[in-house]
Amino acid sequence: MKKIALDGPAGSGKSTVAKRIANKLCIEYLDTGAMYRAVTLYFMRQQISFENQQAVEEALSHIQIDFNEGQLYLNQENVTEEIREPQVASQVSKVAAIKAVRTAMVKQQQAMATRKDIIMDGRDIGTVVLPDTPYKFFLTASIDARAIRRYEEMLSKGFTVSLEQIKEDISKRDSLDMSRTESPLIQAEDAILVDTTNLNIEDVVELLLVHIDRISE
Ligand code: C5P
Repeated sequence: MKKIALDGPAGSGKSTVAKRIANKLCIEYLDTGAMYRAVTLYFMRQQISFENQQAVEEALSHIQIDFNEGQLYLNQENVTEEIREPQVASQVSKVAAIKAVRTAMVKQQQAMATRKDIIMDGRDIGTVVLPDTPYKFFLTASIDARAIRRYEEMLSKGFTVSLEQIKEDISKRDSLDMSRTESPLIQAEDAILVDTTNLNIEDVVELLLVHIDRISE
C-alpha cells in the first residue's frame, strides 16, 4: 500500500504538490487541513466557545465531514469556498489545538486511509495519522516565499487581502501549530525534508516522485 504523508507549515506548497502527485499516481488525496477548517467554521457559526470542553465535545458529535470530487461537505453543505476565508484561517489553529477535535479528526482520517493508496497533507500525518508509512515528506520554505504563495492563491480565489496580513496570519498559525501540546507541527524523524523556497511546483513533484519510486523498490 502506498500511503504518503506530506507535512509542513502553511504555504509550503503541500496541497498543490499533493494534488499533482495524487493525479500522477492515480491515488486518492486527502486535505486534512480542510477538515480542521470545517470544524472551525461550524464552531464559529454556532458560536461555540473553544474553551468550553463540554460544548466542543457536544458540537463534534453533530459534525459530519465528507469529501466528494474535491469538494468538502459540512453536514451535507458544500463549504469548500467558505473554509478558505480569512476569518476561518485566523481561528483554525486554536481549534486544531483542542485534543477532542484532534482525536475525532485523526480517527476519521485513519478510517479514510484504510485499504487504499492515498496521499494526505497536514501537520501531523507522518507523526500521528500514518506513523508506520515509509513515505514521509516534510516541506518547508522561507516565510516570505510562503506568504507570497498564499497571497497569490487568495487573490486568485477573489479574496481581498494584503501581503502583510497574510504573512502575519501564517506566522501566527505556524507558532501556534508548533507550540501546541497535542501533536504539534514537527518533522517526523524518518521524513525527508524538502526546502521548496527556490523550487517550482513541478520540481518538487518530480523530486518527491523520485523518492517515492526509490522507497517502493
Ligand atoms: O493546511 P491548512 O493550512 O489548510 O491547515 C489549516 C490549519 O489546520 C493549520 O494551520 C493547523 O492549525 C491545522 N491542521 C492541523 N493538523 C493537520 C492539518 C491542519 O493541526 N493535519
